[in-house]
Amino acid sequence: MKITDLSVRRFRYISNTVRDSEGHGHPGPDHEAVQSVLTIHTDEGVEGYFFGSPPQDLISSLVKPYITGEDPFYRERIWHNLKERQRLNMATMSDRLLNAVDLALWDLAGRALNLPVHKLLGATRDKVPAYASTMCGDDIEGGLGTPEDYANFAAWCIERGYPAFKLHTWQPPYEGAPDVKQDIAACAAVREVYGPDAHLMLDPYHYYSRLEALYLAKGLEKLDYYWMEEPMDEHSMSSYVWLCEQTSLPICGPETAEGKMYTRAEWIKAGACDLVRGGVGDLGGLTPLMKVAHLAESFGMRMEVHGGGPGNFHALCAMGIPGQYYERGLLHPFIDYEQPSPWLNRLDDPMDEEGFVHISQLPGLGQDINWEYIEANLVE
Ligand code: MG
Repeated sequence: MKITDLSVRRFRYISNTVRDSEGHGHPGPDHEAVQSVLTIHTDEGVEGYFFGSPPQDLISSLVKPYITGEDPFYRERIWHNLKERQRLNMATMSDRLLNAVDLALWDLAGRALNLPVHKLLGATRDKVPAYASTMCGDDIEGGLGTPEDYANFAAWCIERGYPAFKLHTWQPPYEGAPDVKQDIAACAAVREVYGPDAHLMLDPYHYYSRLEALYLAKGLEKLDYYWMEEPMDEHSMSSYVWLCEQTSLPICGPETAEGKMYTRAEWIKAGACDLVRGGVGDLGGLTPLMKVAHLAESFGMRMEVHGGGPGNFHALCAMGIPGQYYERGLLHPFIDYEQPSPWLNRLDDPMDEEGFVHISQLPGLGQDINWEYIEANLVE
């Protein structure tokens, strides 16, 4: 089998999420938005898909020349080839671009072999407990504006079945944000509602100083939190070593730091994290994510996967020392997460009443795609 072409189709849909000036998503009025799907075509008619593709011009100029004519089953070779091209194309050839191609290739392989990706990888399980992962704090009435709002939403999440809960707290541009005391107040309010035994996590503002991060860690130790992620800029690994040495609170990272599996190896060696982190989008695909999972396993550490979506979900169903949780969200009192995106016939991560998300057994990434909707809403 040979790759013959890569194409990107764009289509309209109605979104109810808006971005603030710092780029964080919040509920907002319905408005038209554009989604895109990358297709990798082959000479045997088998295709692979990825939703959220970079634009056609980047795919055509940076990817197509290197992978046209390749056997799509040579994922590892293709990934290394593209990774090596990044060195001279730093501004354009992002890890997100690598991720789009890598996930479309995994999807293609599963479709060709009629197997879901977690079984191609060597599966360990078909369901994973999920934690409720909130949107960032806001100033919306009845939203996530106060510690009490987080407590109320936590009560709703318990009712829905989520066994664990992670707060994303307030960040600029919200007035008074960031504020470590307000963060701890929200964490305490959620602990009160979830009770003493539940696993609770915090993802605060990412640019706190060392002393602010330590203050937070000490507060969360008392509240018996399960982990904290990314309270400081991850380019300063020394700051994370400094933090880990002074707190018993598990520190999870690095999440968004560049450098794929190499950065994660350095963090483990330096003692900069207790739980390893990264998602397909941060690392440049499922191929490098599994390398990090195996790296973490070799050090007897868990890898907690960043973000949801089918790539991350299949990885979680194929880990030796499994990441404990699937990150489901981002959730908000005014967002209905149980509605699939209009281009899908079903959710990628349906959750039962006990809080387990169940992996799709359809081939490839397992997405049930509504092609009729896509065709009817194409953008020229
Ligand atoms: Mg995070």
